[in-house]
Amino acid sequence: MKIAVLKERAAGEERVAATPETVKKFIALGNDFAVETGAGSGASISDDAYSEAGATIGDAAACVKDADIILGIQAPEAALLDGAKPGAWVAALFDPFGNKDLVDAYAKAGLEALSMEFMPRITRAQSMDVLSSQSNLSGYKAVLTAADTFGRAFPMMMTAAGTVKAAKCFVMGVGVAGLQAIATAKRLGAQVSATDVRSATKEQIESLGAKAIFVEEVEGIEGEGSGGYATEMSDEYKAAQAKLVSEHIAKQDIVITTALIPGRAAPRLVTDEQIATMQPGSVIYDLAVAQGGNVEGSVPDDMVVRHGVKIMGYANTPAHLAADASALFARNHLNFLSAFWDKEAGKPELDEEIGDAIRLTKGGEVVNERLKGA
Ligand code: NAD
Repeated sequence: MKIAVLKERAAGEERVAATPETVKKFIALGNDFAVETGAGSGASISDDAYSEAGATIGDAAACVKDADIILGIQAPEAALLDGAKPGAWVAALFDPFGNKDLVDAYAKAGLEALSMEFMPRITRAQSMDVLSSQSNLSGYKAVLTAADTFGRAFPMMMTAAGTVKAAKCFVMGVGVAGLQAIATAKRLGAQVSATDVRSATKEQIESLGAKAIFVEEVEGIEGEGSGGYATEMSDEYKAAQAKLVSEHIAKQDIVITTALIPGRAAPRLVTDEQIATMQPGSVIYDLAVAQGGNVEGSVPDDMVVRHGVKIMGYANTPAHLAADASALFARNHLNFLSAFWDKEAGKPELDEEIGDAIRLTKGGEVVNERLKGA
């Protein structure tokens, strides 16, 4: 099999879908590996490092020519993949609900699109889950970026010149990113509180030493919700949550929002009215900014100041930690394909549970059930 990795084309995308470590392991499985010139530069990986690992380096057309599998971070335009084997697999992020044209173009080109964001949330797929690996880094980076923008310190400091108060940090949405945000803010010495709609997160928040802020009078989502994801909440819940947040947020210095609902715009968690109650100089980092934003007025890759409060969020937070984000994404790809590697056939054979969940297109058609219903 020939596996290819191209340089990412999306603006601001610094990650790369393979590292020398994963290239070596794919070659050990009996494959040829091609990497486009300069593909690793954003993640500080040189062409020589890929070559030493056994990859051939060339332009996009040479890499794609006769490729059986193309690995990506964000799926390339289908036109870039002319020359790949008919029915070649492309494993990457497709943004399937937001980018239907891309999915259709893959179907038309006869490619098999494998959406890494549709990886099911089951125990055996944890090591293949790019949303988790990237969200973890995002939660960390959001806190560091907010701390860097905040004109005050995070920890309490007792000095001869007087005491510096600990910053108060509120994390909204306690999935993978939120848990890492709590842990990072705690490590920096902030007083941390957090909220979610899933009751299961309460214990997780408390186990990290943070305070859980929960709507008590209206039922949230018991347990983990479908596949671990949240759903749209009732109007009654939303009203109770808004009241609770309004009371709490006025006392916060840092707010990190991470709430997402798959296939839907991110829920609006912080309104302009609530921002107006915060102290000037406070910082809000909206990790959902690219999905429509949890915070009123947030703009991707820009800092907006409202009522003296700085509102920010990178459109692609993991790309700001490109070396680690690439290393983990590349391992997710390796764990995924090697788990299904049929040594005799010399190629991967996906099982039904994972194959059907992530396969978007095959044989010229869009075949994914979630997309058909969307
Ligand atoms: P996510 O990125 O989809 O959402 C982030 C958080 O926002 C979630 O905790 C969600 O409940 C919360 N949220 C949504 N709407 C909200 C609202 N209106 N107000 C407040 N919070 C809101 O979530 P995620 O990080 O992908 O993780 C969700 C769950 O899935 C976690 O329990 C995680 O441990 C689990 N998970 C399991 C696997 C696996 O088993 N393979 C992999 C990844 C995640």
